Amino acid sequence: MPGNSMKTQAAIVRNTNEEFSIEEVDLADPRNGEVRVKIEACGICRSDLSALEGKEVIEFPAVLGHEATGTVDAVGKGVVRLKEGDKVILSWTPACGCCPGCLRGQVHLCREINMTTHRRGPLSQGGQGIDRFMGLGAFCEHVVIPERMAIPVTTSLPPHQTCLIGCAVTTGFGAAVNTAAVRWGETVAVLGCGGVGLSAIQGAKVAGASRIIAVDPIAERREAARAMGATDVLTAENVSVEIPKLAADGVDCAIECVGNVNTMRTCFELIRPGGRAIVVGLPGYADELTIPAINLLAEKTLSGSIYGSCQPNTDFQKILSLSEAGEFKLGALVDKIRPFSEINQGFDEMRQGHLTRVVLVF
Ligand SMILES: [Zn+2]
Ligand SMILES: [Zn+2]
Repeated sequence: MPGNSMKTQAAIVRNTNEEFSIEEVDLADPRNGEVRVKIEACGICRSDLSALEGKEVIEFPAVLGHEATGTVDAVGKGVVRLKEGDKVILSWTPACGCCPGCLRGQVHLCREINMTTHRRGPLSQGGQGIDRFMGLGAFCEHVVIPERMAIPVTTSLPPHQTCLIGCAVTTGFGAAVNTAAVRWGETVAVLGCGGVGLSAIQGAKVAGASRIIAVDPIAERREAARAMGATDVLTAENVSVEIPKLAADGVDCAIECVGNVNTMRTCFELIRPGGRAIVVGLPGYADELTIPAINLLAEKTLSGSIYGSCQPNTDFQKILSLSEAGEFKLGALVDKIRPFSEINQGFDEMRQGHLTRVVLVF
């Protein structure tokens, strides 16, 4: 028995690399344990771009968008934590609560995290299901999601800034403070200074790193890195020569925010004996990484990091509080705001690669 639904506007993409088309769609009302959120802002993330380019697991037609904030405007039965009018940031870990990852308290490793909903979800058009990237599909005026994917927050900051906490900020900041567990006085190299890398730089700064070396081929991004706390900035070519001049024994920690296997290998080479190389960037599914095995005997660690090893329920609000206190420069990560209707122009700008974040407002 189909339940009730509402009409809303979604940016649908029907095939790899096609333009988005904003169209009316049907959105089923929230069921047990679900809420409906009226989206106020959604950032355009590199992984949305990769999904559009056909590099991620997604079925078309699809609605992308997974870095969003909004206000709860309807709740299903059994919802205990949220009510209409609550401000939320969307989280892409379902935090199911029953899988081994969740039971260990590592909700960022929840087995239910999925890039695709296989067109089985609350969104449809003319009876045909529409896929939602990361289980959210937030390039849409409303989403219906499990209560656990809508994290309540209190903030005075504007939605076009706070939405970034749903992905890039938490991913980068958490990679530095949670996964790498940067300690005061340490030397940290961050390779790749997009939204995630700039958040990692700020995480390292908050954690008390004494030297933060930012690496990016694009001048605007190196400039941004410096403004956010990098003490040294380098282009990609001279890393292997310049970093040993700054940290003779190697850096304590290197964070890869590019998704390229060569950069990952460089990170591993750059760390000192006993140092940590953390991979945050999203590689291609078929990519393989080789490292000199003998270096493992120097107790070097190479580790991945997903969603900043975070606990959205507590970490989202903590990052917001740091931002309100001026310790985390959230606003500086947004370099363009566009209305939802200009989503195609926003993606064009992200493709050019010079901007940190383009945010769509609804
Ligand atoms: Zn993302
Ligand atoms: Zn789980």
